[in-house]
Formats: sequence, C-alpha cells, structure tokens
Amino acid sequence: MRILSSDQADFAERLAELISRDPAQDPDIERAVAAICDDVRSRGDAAVLEYTQRYDGLSAASVAGLELSQESLAAAMAAVGAAEREALEQAAARVRSYHERQLSQAWEITEPDGTVLGQRVSALERVGLYVPGGKAAYPSSVLMNAIPARVAGVDELVMTVPTPGGEQNRLVLAAARIAGVDRVFTIGGAQAVAALAYGTQTIPRVDKIVGPGNAYVAAAKRRVFGAVGIDMIAGPSEILVICDGSTDADWIAMDMFAQAEHDELAQALLLCPDASYIEQVAASIERLIAAMARREVIAASLARRGALVRVRDLDEACALANRIAPEHLELSVADPDRWLGRIRNAGAVFVGRYSSESLGDYCAGPNHVLPTSGTARYSSPLGVYDFQKRSSLIRVSRAGAQTLGRVAATLARGEGLMAHALSAEYRLDPGATGPAEDGRAGANGAAMTIPEKVIREDVRAMVAYHVTPARGMVKLDAMENPYGLPAALGQEVGALVASAEINRYPDPAAHELKARIRSAMQIPAGFDILLGNGSDEIIQLVVVAAARPGAVVMAPEPTFVMYRMAAAAAQVRFVGVPLAADFTLDLGSFLAAMAEHRPSVVFLAWPNNPTGNLFQEEAVARIVAEAPGLVVVDEAYQAFAGRTLMARLDGFPNLLLLRTASKLGLAGLRLGYAAARPEWMREFEKLRPPYNVGVLAQMVGERLIAHHGVFDEQAAAIRAERGRLARGLAGIRGVQQFPSDANFILVRVPDAPRVFEGLKRRMVLVRFLHGSHALLDNCLRLTVGTPGENEQLLGALAAVLAES
Ligand code: PMP
Repeated sequence: MRILSSDQADFAERLAELISRDPAQDPDIERAVAAICDDVRSRGDAAVLEYTQRYDGLSAASVAGLELSQESLAAAMAAVGAAEREALEQAAARVRSYHERQLSQAWEITEPDGTVLGQRVSALERVGLYVPGGKAAYPSSVLMNAIPARVAGVDELVMTVPTPGGEQNRLVLAAARIAGVDRVFTIGGAQAVAALAYGTQTIPRVDKIVGPGNAYVAAAKRRVFGAVGIDMIAGPSEILVICDGSTDADWIAMDMFAQAEHDELAQALLLCPDASYIEQVAASIERLIAAMARREVIAASLARRGALVRVRDLDEACALANRIAPEHLELSVADPDRWLGRIRNAGAVFVGRYSSESLGDYCAGPNHVLPTSGTARYSSPLGVYDFQKRSSLIRVSRAGAQTLGRVAATLARGEGLMAHALSAEYRLDPGATGPAEDGRAGANGAAMTIPEKVIREDVRAMVAYHVTPARGMVKLDAMENPYGLPAALGQEVGALVASAEINRYPDPAAHELKARIRSAMQIPAGFDILLGNGSDEIIQLVVVAAARPGAVVMAPEPTFVMYRMAAAAAQVRFVGVPLAADFTLDLGSFLAAMAEHRPSVVFLAWPNNPTGNLFQEEAVARIVAEAPGLVVVDEAYQAFAGRTLMARLDGFPNLLLLRTASKLGLAGLRLGYAAARPEWMREFEKLRPPYNVGVLAQMVGERLIAHHGVFDEQAAAIRAERGRLARGLAGIRGVQQFPSDANFILVRVPDAPRVFEGLKRRMVLVRFLHGSHALLDNCLRLTVGTPGENEQLLGALAAVLAES
C-alpha cells in the first residue's frame, strides 16, 4: 500500500500524479460510436435491431419486440425475494422523500410600478434512463436516476437496459417498476443512446439522457449531447477519508475496499495526521483483503491509485480534500462539525464515524450519482433540479416600460444595436422620447414599422436591380454567351466538380486561379490581381474602400447602373457626366467635371454598357492621366472589342483594369477579376469577404481559363453574328441602331414599351432601357444570340413593328 507524507519534498507532484485523470478518448471507440449513432439516426429501428443482434445476440422481429411490458416488470418484481423487495422499497421511499425537498418552486416579485418578474419551473417532458447490463447492472442506480425524475414531474421515463443473450436482471426490472419507469427497452450500448437521442420509429426521442455506462455509452452520450441533454460523463469512483486516527482501522480499510471493488481505476485515499494509525490501516488492509470476493480488483485499484497519506494536521487534510474535490468524502473524526465548514469541494460528505459511504450508495436518501474526477469543484449530485428547467418571466407594466425603456435604449445604442433601442422606445409613451436616430420624433415613430425604423431611409427608397424572369424564352437580355460549353469541356468540368472538396473552404487567396488568369490574360508583373464574386463585387469593394466623407464617384452616363448603385449603397455622392447624343464621350466636358468634383473613383466601361461603343482610347488615357484618384476601366466586353488597356497598365499607377468571365461564357460561375498596383489592391483585399470565390468557381475557372482558346473562338463567332444581326436590324423599318463593339446592340424603336411587350409575347426577352436615362428614350438592348435566336429576334421585331 502506497504511504505518502505531506512533508515529503516531492509530495505535491506525487499527489498530482495520483489524482491525475487522463480524459483521453479512445479514437477507435469514438469512430465506432460515431458510425453507430449516425446509422441509428438515419435508419432508426432497423439499425437498432441489427446492433442488438450483433452485440447482445438478441434477435427480435421488431423493436417493439424488445420492449418489456409493465406486466413483465410486475412479474420480475414478484419473482424477487421478499427481503430484497422490501429493501428496494425502503430505499426507494427514502430516496423519494429526500428528493422531494429538492423541488424548486416558481417565484415572482412585484415592483412598485407594477412590473412583475419571476421564474417558472417546469419538468422535462421525456427522459431516457440508461441502465448498464450484465455485471454492472445496479438496481440502486435505477432508483437513483428514475426517482428524482419522477419527483420532478417528468411526463415519461424511458429506460434502456441491454440483456446480453436475453438474460434479464430481475432486480433491475423490479427497481424500474418500483421507481415508476414507463417504458423499458432491452437494448444497450451506443445504439440505445442514439435511439433515445434521435428517436426511432418505435423508441421515442427524449429530452435528456441520464445513467452510467461503459466507454461506448459515455462516448455516445458525449456525441449526442446538444441534440439532447445529458447528466454527466462519470469517471471512476473515488473516496477520500479524513480520519483523526481514532476510528476502528478495519472500518476505514473496508470503506476503502468498498470503493476499490468498483473497478481497478477507482480511487481510495486516506488523509490522517497520525503515522502509527496509518500503519494500522495498512495492516488491516493486508489482513482483510484475502477474504474479499473481488480482491484482485481491490488490490489493483489500491496499488494503482490508492494511498495512505500522513498530513500535518486536519487543517491540511481539509485543504488537500478541497484540492482533490473527491466524489465521496468521509469525515471520520471526533468533532466533524468543526471541520465540515472547511469542506467546499466534495460530491457528498459523510459526517462522523458511523456514516459509511456504502449507506449513501443505497439507501440513506441522497443521490449516489455524484460528480467525479474533481468536477465537484463546479458541479452537484444528480437531483430533481436536473430534470427541471427554469424559464424567466418578465411582465412589464406600462410605467415600467418608461423607465426600463430608456435604460435599455441607451445601452442598445451604445452597442450599436438600433433595432433593440427602437423596440424599447416604441413602448415609451408619445412625447416622452427624444428624437429617434433618423431625426423623426418619437411620437411619429410610433406609426413606423420596425423595418422602417431600422433600414436606412435611402435604402428604402432604392429600387433593386431588376432581372426579368426568362423561363422558356429566347434570352437576349443579359449579354450571356449563347453557346454553352463544348461537350468535352463540359465532361471535364463534371469530373472536376465531382472531385471538389466541397466540405472545405476554398483557398482564400485563390493562388492557382490567379496564376492562371495572370498568364492567360497577360497581366504584367508588378500588378496584383483581385478576384470578385462577379466584377459587381469588385465595383462595390472599390467604392466602399473609397467612401471617405465627401468622396465623389464619377462616370459618364448612361453606363452600367452598378456604378451608381454601389455609390448609393456606400452613401457616396455619384456624379454622372452625360455622353453626347450619339453616346460618344465629350472629353472636354468630362475633364471639366473631374476638375470641379475631384472624384475619388472614376468608372469607364470600355466598351460601354448599354451603348456598346468604345470611347476613344486617347480620351480614356487622358482621363486616367488627369484623374485625381483611381480610374476603373471596366473591360467587361473586351473580348468583343479586341482592345484593352492591359499593355498600358505600367504607365498608369492609378488605373484599375476590371474584367469579368461572365461575358466570355461563364456568367454562371460569378467570377470577376481586376489588375492594379499592389498599393491599391492591399486595401481592397481588406474588404473582400475571405471566401468570395467558391471552390467550384476556383476549380472550374482555373480549368476553363486554361482552355480560353475555346472562348476566344466563341467570341469571334459572336462578333460575326453581331454583324449579321446589325445587317438584319438595318432591314427593319423603324429601328435605329447604334454601332457596337460589344456582344449586344442598342436600338431605338418607336414606342419601346409596346415593342418590348410584343417581343415578350413572342418569347423573346431583351433589356428594356426606356426611362432609365434621358438619352435612352425608347431604347432596348439586344444581346447577340446564336444565329437561330437572332433570326427569331429579327422575325419577332419585324412582326411587332409591322403591327403598329
Ligand atoms: N461591368 C459591366 C460594364 C457590365 O455590363 C457588367 C454586367 N452587365 C458587369 C461589370 C458585371 O458583371 P459580373 O458581375 O457578371 O462580372
């Protein structure tokens, strides 16, 4: 028997080692349990039946066949001996009456202004009780777990107990009957825990699972925690005896055995200031152990984790006990009350020489499910409170709302939570409040809905970017490439998508994709690439980053509406400089506007959308050269114009070249990119959502950009089609078209709303622009489609115009 003394130099380390509990979990068990839990969750009864057959050798046609009726519980009870039955009943009665005192009551207080605050207490609806089978089946454990639940008022108690080989433990079933368990299933292991946690076709899902079990059961409880509540994950049992040296040494030895016989990892410790008494206990242990039925287990437990410790005095013993925080603590001393007050950390304290721990295990009344492994530092014995939960009750009077409302609103505004503040302020009596955040008076505010109060006034006044539903139509409204992927490429993409690590976040820096873009698009060294979820996102990032007070964003108009929308979203002033009537850029007036407004950011779509024309390259270069801030040259339609400023990036430190894969034939990918000097990109990167380009967009983008020759060919075909479409349009009376370097043609027609609707009726969808800008009166934008689609468009257009 290990004997230690607190005055040994290395005592602290030796004690620490002795009480250290390695919570390491066995990965094989974890894996097996995970599989079982998932299987039971998805297959329910069928899985439960299979595992029960496999692990317990118990077969049944259905899970219902594994349920024991109340009659069979009654029969089990009738079959146990009278003495045992009486003992069980006495124990149950004592446990019940002890736990009845734990019932917590609801309470309420009423404040002077009529506000009522309180706490309601309600029982859990359904509880699962796990009872181990075989050797570790303890009827006392059934009583200790089931009775507090019953006392708490739980509606239904469902017990599971494995019966390996069909062997039922009569005492366990009798205890279940006495404790008032409602349903008993003869299943066990992780499958029982999972069935209780998730429910199956037959086994009802519970709210909390309690009860001890082996490593598999513990792992399963840990795993299902969250889906259900659990009691605790119990570690090996522990006793710590503090003795003054005057208790019969045999009693103490036997108390230590009582713990040690549970299992080899159980712990029994004695703290005593009397060295000769420690010798006596050691001698008692040696003498008594031979007669113990479980002497091997006891010997192993004492050798591995037991110790007799000589302490300086009982003060020190109490201090050590608090550090160890044992499950069971015996105060076997002359004046236990004197020491009891010193004990803070212990699951149960057995006070005085006659209080043996074993009485607590069975029948004293308090629960024997206690915190182990030092968790008594922060947790309590199983009790009625584990089966009850509390809800707070807040009933604020009108007067209370006035005082509390002000306090809450002040704190909420401090936290930047405007809706919180307003929801409190709504309840302030009219006139009693100051101006709300948006400047409206509180009295006014009472008429506003919550979104009206929360959402920015300017956002509420915005109109969302409109997309017309196009199902079944010839879709010529969004500058999509009408040719899908060639079949072989489509197959490559399919295989890629199948291999995607869709469970992982994408590479936030998208290195591979950027490298591909850099080489395919000939982005010069010294310039960084920024990727966006579409180039729309890059437009937004740039504007948000530049949204200093007083900042201006400028663009010629009409142009791509997103520039203006991004400015509005960031609350930045937008200045649109009108193009000439033929949509050419008047360089003089643009430079003058720049001089006047000093824009932080200028957007130039090149070619321009929706007009389709390329502004003169030298005009664009002058704007970049003279701009006081950043110039974004948006080359979304570059493939159809064959012109780019890429080669001139070097000369313009304030140029950001914006591109998109959308118009090339990858609109569904949502991939935009930009190139600019690192000093710009560094800043935009800070605002970029970390995973804005998903795994699929990265993989597929990478692969397809490697094949950009395919898209170049498609672009050439589209350019050729653009010529054919232009010639076709020239042949339709009433259509005025504007020259285009993009994959669309802007047209003006008489009565554009009627023409637009007429085309729609003929299943051709184009973009309606009339009314969006003074220069776009009666304008429609026609995306170049396949030859067949263009024929359909021309035919429909001719027909609609002929109708008038
Ligand atoms: N820039 C211009 C000029 C556009 O016309 C468009 C889309 N119509 C975009 C950018 C945005 O394209 P995406 O977000 O699909 O990259």
